[in-house]
Amino acid sequence: MGSGKCRYTVLAAALVAALLMPSEALCQGMSRREIAIPDVLGYKAVMCDFHMHTVFSDGRVWPDVRVGEAWRDGLHALAITDHVEYARHKDDIPKKLNRSHELAMGPARQAGLILVKGAEITRKMPPGHFNVIFTQDTDSLDTPEWRDAMAAAIRQGAFMFWNHPGRDEEVWKAEHTEIYEKGWLQGVEVVNGSRYYAHAHKWCLEKNLAMIGTSDVHGTIDMSYDRAAGEHRPVTIALAEDYTEEAVKDALVSRRTVIYWENELIGKPEHLRAIFDASSVEVLTEELALKPKGRAEMQVRNTSDVSYELELDGEADDIWARGKVTLPAHRTVRVRIGRRPDTAPGEKTIRLPYRVSNLKVAPEQGLQVELSIRVKLEES
Ligand SMILES: [Zn+2]
Ligand SMILES: [Zn+2]
Repeated sequence: MGSGKCRYTVLAAALVAALLMPSEALCQGMSRREIAIPDVLGYKAVMCDFHMHTVFSDGRVWPDVRVGEAWRDGLHALAITDHVEYARHKDDIPKKLNRSHELAMGPARQAGLILVKGAEITRKMPPGHFNVIFTQDTDSLDTPEWRDAMAAAIRQGAFMFWNHPGRDEEVWKAEHTEIYEKGWLQGVEVVNGSRYYAHAHKWCLEKNLAMIGTSDVHGTIDMSYDRAAGEHRPVTIALAEDYTEEAVKDALVSRRTVIYWENELIGKPEHLRAIFDASSVEVLTEELALKPKGRAEMQVRNTSDVSYELELDGEADDIWARGKVTLPAHRTVRVRIGRRPDTAPGEKTIRLPYRVSNLKVAPEQGLQVELSIRVKLEES
């Protein structure tokens, strides 16, 4: 119900914006969801979506609607990436390749969002579809030869990533090796909309490509995600030095990205560990006293938007713990632990080894973490 009303308001606001007051009316009366994923390692967690379409290719919305949606979804940066070659509505809307970005610039500035210029190079060939972002002039990408289009983008300083890269590893062809070896191919969509590409995840690890997650939205965000049910679009979290276009680009080029998709984070172990540790998960119980064979509960708080799914991965000395633990988003839970029989008394710090299945460091592989707790093993 809530989303229906919002959708109506967005459409109504977009109509007013298009006719009367571009940009101003777009987000009036709306609230923005703030994504609770902490800043880590001295970097800002900059929320980005670099793949979306408007009526200037085969999307169904005016460019400023993309800005309004991005603001509501808690993003800091977006790129409108209309197809260079495919203008589905060209009988109604003239093919103007730079126009969607131009129209979104004012609203983005007003909303305080970083609008990165971009386009989707969409050719029939083994390579497939590629997004180029941080470009200058989309007209110059409209060339007969795909290599010329990519070369033009690269000359403009583009960061290029491969979109929705097919079913399996077989889709990687000689052309991909070519553009990879030239340094043109810098990232790949591990997530596009509702799809996760395990083979693309593997390529990122093997070839040091940036992990990218995007919505590739064509309709409205509200038509694609049920906000009321807690759904959200895929987000690329750029770990950037600041909220600027330059810093975001540096984060991508330096491969500091984490994908926030459904209830998962996908990224490098060091980044995921930092997110898990930094304010996301905290053991609140200072010390637990345990008699021989005694049981107790420790309290663990999770202040992030991700509900962590933990599975025990090994054994701790002296103490047993529950095999499966869920740490729900924005909750504190009590986790049962107990003292093993025949353990010597004393005070010590116990590290409980877990694997977090939805902090993905590789396909089918969760991040290893530890929950530390101080225990006092009493005489009797
Ligand atoms: Zn499209
Ligand atoms: Zn697309």
